[in-house]
Amino acid sequence: MTTQAGEGPGARLPLVGGCFCGALRFEIRKPLVGAQSCHCSKCRKVFSGPGSAFAFLDEGSFGWLGEPGTLRRYASGDGWEIGFCGTCGSTLCGIHRGIVRGVTLGSIDGDPGIQLDRHLFVGSKAPWDHIGGDVPQFDEGADES
Ligand SMILES: [Zn+2]
Ligand SMILES: [Zn+2]
Repeated sequence: MTTQAGEGPGARLPLVGGCFCGALRFEIRKPLVGAQSCHCSKCRKVFSGPGSAFAFLDEGSFGWLGEPGTLRRYASGDGWEIGFCGTCGSTLCGIHRGIVRGVTLGSIDGDPGIQLDRHLFVGSKAPWDHIGGDVPQFDEGADES
């Protein structure tokens, strides 16, 4: 069972979110499009957990609230940069060619209005990671279509 973007009960726009210390706050003006969790070794490091949990967003739908003075970027080597707070370390977003195109689900306040629709790289997940639920699981990346 999947929930289409924008149909969740909490999908009131704009979505708002931010980092743990509160220095970085943002809003998202359009529904998120596609949420997934990747369990590969790189995502486990980036998120310091069982993997990533993030969603993509339409170009131009993301905006910082105030000056993002503590934002730091780390080039992850695949054309993307990871945006995180330099003060508290929260991972907030994925930046592609200077534009925020992905957001971490955990950084959003309340219901992001979308459900995970896939687990990726389950074949190389951590030995202590036991994925529950009925969300489809893929040993590696899912086919992009
Ligand atoms: Zn912070
Ligand atoms: Zn990954």
